[in-house]
Amino acid sequence: MEKKIEHYDVVVIGGGPAGMTAALYAGRARLKTLLIEKSLIGGMATYTSEIENYPGFPEPIDGIELMKLFDKQFRRFGVDVKLTDVRSVSVECNQKIVSTFRTDYYAKAVIISTGNKPRLTGAKNEEKFLNDKGISFCATCDAARNTGKRIMVIGSGDAAIEEGMFLTKFAREVIVSVIHDEGIMDANKVAQEKALANPKMKFMWNTVVDSFEGDDTLKQVVLKNIKTGELIPVDVDTCFLFIGYVPNTKMFEGFIDMTQRGYIKTNENMETSREGFFAVGDCRDKILRQVATAVGDGAIAGFMAEKYVEELEYVQREIFEAKGLIMAFVYNAVEALDREFLARVEQVQREHKDKIQLRRIDVYKSDRIACRLDYTKTPSLIFMKDGKVLENVTDLSNLEQMISQMIAKYA
Ligand SMILES: Cc1cc2nc3c(=O)[nH]c(=O)nc-3n(C[C@H](O)[C@H](O)[C@H](O)COP(=O)(O)OP(=O)(O)OC[C@H]3O[C@@H](n4cnc5c(N)ncnc54)[C@H](O)[C@@H]3O)c2cc1C
Repeated sequence: MEKKIEHYDVVVIGGGPAGMTAALYAGRARLKTLLIEKSLIGGMATYTSEIENYPGFPEPIDGIELMKLFDKQFRRFGVDVKLTDVRSVSVECNQKIVSTFRTDYYAKAVIISTGNKPRLTGAKNEEKFLNDKGISFCATCDAARNTGKRIMVIGSGDAAIEEGMFLTKFAREVIVSVIHDEGIMDANKVAQEKALANPKMKFMWNTVVDSFEGDDTLKQVVLKNIKTGELIPVDVDTCFLFIGYVPNTKMFEGFIDMTQRGYIKTNENMETSREGFFAVGDCRDKILRQVATAVGDGAIAGFMAEKYVEELEYVQREIFEAKGLIMAFVYNAVEALDREFLARVEQVQREHKDKIQLRRIDVYKSDRIACRLDYTKTPSLIFMKDGKVLENVTDLSNLEQMISQMIAKYA
């Protein structure tokens, strides 16, 4: 099958809060933007029934409702959306390519916002009960169908305890398996106090899952006491796993620098180790994975992608595709000496304006354009003709004479 090719300024991979915010900023900057989501727009925030720490909403808001508002907002800015799985990314001749089954999307900048997926316990028979067969990762999605049932929650972090409490509104009993000693949980103190006071919540301390049992669907979770080795079978209708997450970054292995745990490394501008690729939200290495921080990341990446595309187009048009002899003056606008040299360079260029063009590249604003020209210091002059670097001159002591010689040699 011949693959289709489509061109965009910015392609965003993943439609969670980070990706939607990045798309909003890129779209609003009038960049031709595509957002690709493999399942549901909204990402992990749709897994929770109550978000009470996202500013602007004084009352708790359902994750699905909040994500619907994000969705409605970013689409106002003309962003295209495709519901498909991104399989790989690559770079060919400076083009960034985001590949799906049917189409290769060529982009000037790519924003990765693929988030996380829930971690599994690794216990016996786990795979057998995934996909609606009794093991769940989403309280919001599966709460109603557990009305009056006995359920188990694995984990003791914020998600486990807060979602466990939400589930007590539906289930008759919520049994929480906690790996720690009695009374110790990883959740925030407010959630811990509320959970311990909730009569529908029962805790099984020092336990991990040994196996999942049942026929077509889950019937029993066998817990193991990590101190005594005792196996404790518990009959349940559904088991919710909230034991952390693993980043959805496998396809970027070897392509972009990551931590040992697979989180993408970025700087504070959300730039990855690969030029023109940005990473945002839960898939990147950071201290706090929440909607508020995902949104902050997305805003920065959308803004930086705009700057990147603008610079890319400028360099292409004004430097690499420009005809004739060009001198690019690389300087730092806050340095007095650099400004003096700039005035002299401008004067010489005026005298020879029919033979040589001037491009001013201020590294104080950003050094990225200068880096593309392999500059080594400021002030310096890079001479180019028809897109090719001829000479990079850092000794400007005889500036006027040197420029005249260059014109005589190359014009
Ligand atoms: C149960 C639960 C409760 C939570 N409670 C809160 C809370 O109260 N407050 C709060 O602030 N945060 C909460 N969070 C965390 C919050 O949801 C996340 O921090 C946030 O969703 C991260 O956004 P993201 O866009 O980085 O990633 P995600 O929301 O994970 O979105 C990533 C998206 O990328 C898509 N994707 C992945 N791979 C591909 C691919 N190859 N091709 C195309 N698309 C792909 C995924 O399908 C997904 O939609 C909770 C999370 C959970 C699970």
